[in-house]
Amino acid sequence: MRYLPQTIIRKKRDGFELSGDELRDFAFGVADGSVSEAQIAAFAMAVYFQDISPRERVDWTLAVRDSGTVLSWGRAGAGAGAGASADAGTAPEFELDGPVVDKHSTGGVGDVVSLMLGPMLAACGTYVPMIAGRGLAHTGGTIDKLESIPGYVTGLSPADFQRVVRDVGISIVRQTDTIAPTDRRMYAVRDVTATVENRGLITGSIVAKKLVAGLDALVLDVKTGNGAVMQDRSDALALARMMVDVGNNAGMPTFAHVTDMSEPLAFSAGNALEVHEAISYLTGGPRHPRLEAVVEALGADLLVQCGKFSGPDARPEALSALRHSISSGSAAERFERMVHAMGGPADLLARPSNYLSAAPVVLPVYADRPGVVSGMDVRALGWSVVTLGGGRTTPGAAINPAVGLSALAQVGASVGPSSSTQPLAQVHAATQAEAETAAASVRAAFQFAEPGAAVASCDVLLEVVR
Ligand code: URA
Repeated sequence: MRYLPQTIIRKKRDGFELSGDELRDFAFGVADGSVSEAQIAAFAMAVYFQDISPRERVDWTLAVRDSGTVLSWGRAGAGAGAGASADAGTAPEFELDGPVVDKHSTGGVGDVVSLMLGPMLAACGTYVPMIAGRGLAHTGGTIDKLESIPGYVTGLSPADFQRVVRDVGISIVRQTDTIAPTDRRMYAVRDVTATVENRGLITGSIVAKKLVAGLDALVLDVKTGNGAVMQDRSDALALARMMVDVGNNAGMPTFAHVTDMSEPLAFSAGNALEVHEAISYLTGGPRHPRLEAVVEALGADLLVQCGKFSGPDARPEALSALRHSISSGSAAERFERMVHAMGGPADLLARPSNYLSAAPVVLPVYADRPGVVSGMDVRALGWSVVTLGGGRTTPGAAINPAVGLSALAQVGASVGPSSSTQPLAQVHAATQAEAETAAASVRAAFQFAEPGAAVASCDVLLEVVR
């Protein structure tokens, strides 16, 4: 490194702007291990308090992208060197006959969108090279969810990743020593050091991973509400604007949906439980209305943005293609093929309970008295999953895939104290004591109106930023 890590950290700590060279040096030092975990934490906290300027954000994002391999794709029929990011060296082997697209969320509770939307997009003729993350703070992570499937290998070489995308249409992998390595270490440290909530770091993490994947179009799902990383709507909007601008200026067509996270997005929160829910969705089982709204809005707009559908009826046609991918079973088939190609079982969809681990204790949680659910502290629900063992307190710690919450009551549900009423949730725990502790936190996280009150959920789709 040309600059000492402690010099860079001190400069940021004292509120000065870092040069592009300093940010690049730090990012590359994180990737090659010459920057320690303690220094990463100190840097992240300095950025959290002092923030980074628009110029620093762009430099940081590009440095994180360049810390590892940047993928390129060839376009069938277009010849070597064609396409948004093709180069002559990789085009022949990884030639694709459709657009390369992806979605990414800033993180939520029960946010299992990637597991169904990715295969649905692949079934609609696009290619989805998804580089995802583990749980972050109180939010769940796609990689932890997928690792609850026995055998699923999330860390592939760039070439193997591209091969699965080419052959199956979708692959979901994590950051590795070669794929976004700076984000791999930064992400793990931010998870456990209360340094997630900084717009510059989030942009550097999310947009950099997507630039690595060589996309033709990206949709971001920027959450707001009490379960989001950016709880305040104006902060979420500013984050959406920032990521959209950095993505577009780096040559990757990017837009964002700002969506509500003041209710969990699914019936469950927890790794294996959310995989069960994704399988149920893909195979025509019950669908959480808010989840379905987000999946369809992100998917349809992305299919139009990438040019898969065009003309005056593009949006309804894209929506009907997405719905057809579920009713025809083609999205479920893509998911199953991806799981198998990544090392998991070939028959996960037919027998999910044979593969996904289940917690030994399942405890229903009831309200103290009759009432109607009027709101909930979603962040607290997310922390109860972490406390049950579904998330981490130190970087790299093992988690328990089986624990979490299911049957989460929605706003407007009539609940009560007896076993003949609807519970607030079912707690899935490793021990009875842990289940009871989590049950108390879950009960405290809900707010109630009087019995019979008409309480409606707020809209989940709030606005689009282009
Ligand atoms: N998802 C990411 O990949 N990174 C963040 O910083 C937040 C959500």
